[in-house]
Amino acid sequence: MSLACKKCGSDTTVQRTSEDKNTTIRIRKCKHCGKVQASLEIYVDDMKNGFEYLADKVQGEKTA
Ligand SMILES: [Zn+2]
Repeated sequence: MSLACKKCGSDTTVQRTSEDKNTTIRIRKCKHCGKVQASLEIYVDDMKNGFEYLADKVQGEKTA
């Protein structure tokens, strides 16, 4: 099971996974159009802290 591309809806593959104690970030690439997107696994409790720091973290992974 993989997430669908946000642009064209095709399957994506995981290019890279970055894990730490509380979050898992997966960099995904669309098999069809090549769009690179990041997905995030996080504890629901951590959502109370807001998403801004997570967005920064994900953006860092995408450009790393
Ligand atoms: Zn696509």
